[in-house]
Amino acid sequence: MLRKIEHLGIAVKSIDDSLKTFETLLGSKCYKIEEVASEGVKTAFIQVGESKIELLEATNPDSPIAKYLEKKGPGIHHIAFDVENIETEIERLTNEGFTLIHTSPKDGADNKKIAFLHPKSTESILVELCQEKS
Ligand code: ZN
Repeated sequence: MLRKIEHLGIAVKSIDDSLKTFETLLGSKCYKIEEVASEGVKTAFIQVGESKIELLEATNPDSPIAKYLEKKGPGIHHIAFDVENIETEIERLTNEGFTLIHTSPKDGADNKKIAFLHPKSTESILVELCQEKS
């Protein structure tokens, strides 16, 4: 079951340049900046009520975020849903005919196991499933 919107991912050219705008907008300070080397991305998280905003900056030109920025420019990149059991959801959604980018969970930022669905099967929205690591 997808329980809530865990966070919205927003692609930015530079976290250093964009963070203050989002902190001021949301009236809340960033609580974590973390690099995910395997994805070539640096992330910054800001809490908004029960959800979060995740800013994403590319750390190398081959990273998916770099390619996204090149094609579409800065903006909303993905929507992430909190799930109770990510393996169960991957299996359920695969059986429902969705295309998973990750067919098994991988380590994401902010202490999460994650998996992305391909936008071609989700009305062009990049969807992330995430489960808090216990
Ligand atoms: Zn995310």
